[in-house]
Parts: sequence; C-alpha cells; structure tokens
Amino acid sequence: MGPVLNDLIKLQSVENRLRVVKGKLSRCRRNVILRENHVRNLQSALEAKNEEIQLTRIQSDRLELELKSRDESIAKLRASLNITKTNKEYAAVLTQLNTTKADNSKIESQALDLMKDIETDETECSDIQSQIDEGKKILEETRKETESLSTKLQAEIEEIQVEWDAASNAIPAESLEIFRRVAETYDGEALAIVNIPDEKGSAYSCGGCFMGVTAENVNLLMTKDDVLRCQNCTRILVLKESQE
Ligand SMILES: [Zn+2]
Repeated sequence: MGPVLNDLIKLQSVENRLRVVKGKLSRCRRNVILRENHVRNLQSALEAKNEEIQLTRIQSDRLELELKSRDESIAKLRASLNITKTNKEYAAVLTQLNTTKADNSKIESQALDLMKDIETDETECSDIQSQIDEGKKILEETRKETESLSTKLQAEIEEIQVEWDAASNAIPAESLEIFRRVAETYDGEALAIVNIPDEKGSAYSCGGCFMGVTAENVNLLMTKDDVLRCQNCTRILVLKESQE
C-alpha cells in the first residue's frame, strides 16, 4: 500500500469519530421529538375523551327531557284516574299508568348509567391531564439538556470536520468520492481490512462481508497503491499494518 491507501485509513478513523458524535447529536434530538410526540398523543387522547363526555351528556340530556315529559303524562294519568266513571275505564288507565311508571324507571336507570360513565370519563380526563403536565415538565427539561448538549456536540463535529478535511486533502478526488459513496452505504464503514488465511488454509477474505479476495488483489495491495474494492460489498480493501 502507498500514501493514498494509508491516507484513506487515516480518513476512516476520523470518519468513525465523526459518525459517533453525529449519532449522539441525532439521538439527543430524537429524544426531544419522542417526548413531544408523547405529549401530543396524550393531548389527543384527552380531546377524544372530552368529546366522548360531550356525546354522553347530549344523550343524558335527551333522557332527562323524556323523563320530564313522561312525568307530566303520569300526572295527567293520575288526574284522570280520579275522574274515571267505570271500573273498566279505571283499570285501563291504571294499566297505562303502571306501564309508564315502569318505562320511567328503566329510563331513570339508563340516565344513571350515563352519569356514571361521565364520572368515570372525567376521572380518566384528570388522569390524562396530570400525565400531560408531567410529560410537559419532562419535555422542558429534555429540551434544556438537549440544547446545551447539542451545542457541545455541534462544536465537536465542527472540530472533527476540520480534521476530516485535512485528512482528505491529499486523497485524489476520484478515490475520495468512492470513499464517500461507500461510507454512505455502510454507515461510515468505507474500508474493509483483508482477513489473512489461518493455519487451516482458509482463503483471503473481505473483513466487511467475508467473501473471498483473490491472492492477486492481495498482492496488488502489498505492492501498489491502487484503490481496490471488494467485488461483493464494494468496500475499499486495505491490509492490516502487519500484512504490508
Ligand atoms: Zn466485502
């Protein structure tokens, strides 16, 4: 290997450090987004619950209204009971009165159930509200922490970027472009060290994907400074220092 491959190895180590810090930065920003989503989900749950309560209230109001009008008809039936002239008439009005009363008690128990539902939903609402308050508090703390941490990480990234630029300075444009492209594909891992055969007689292989590398290519790496890529995974092949 020669200066180009050695420069690529140095660049790879800077690239690795750069990726680590960039990863930290995006994780800490993601944290804020996750917290924001959490609060937003709770808020929509609260909205949905409140809508449910409103619908139940409408239903319960309707029942109350019905009860009122039925109470009026009971009063009328009672009044007419007093002025019936025959036993038959009396019996008929009485039956009607009893049926209406029975219906009323059914409606009353329905109305009671609805009130219980509303109470339960209101308790849930206040639970969700306290979760929202807690979530917002944590979100604010996370935001503050993230702000100072990301400022620090960004400064670190800028510093490493300067090193990256310096390390890439002497690398020919074409080779650097290959490095960039492969790094994008493999989350920063543009280079692969060639594995040497062990005593069992295994062949040379790519340290990135473990597919075979020809002895001819290994020989080229030892003697020349060419950018050779694994035919399988396209990573740039390099030798360990001891292999040179
Ligand atoms: Zn490979």
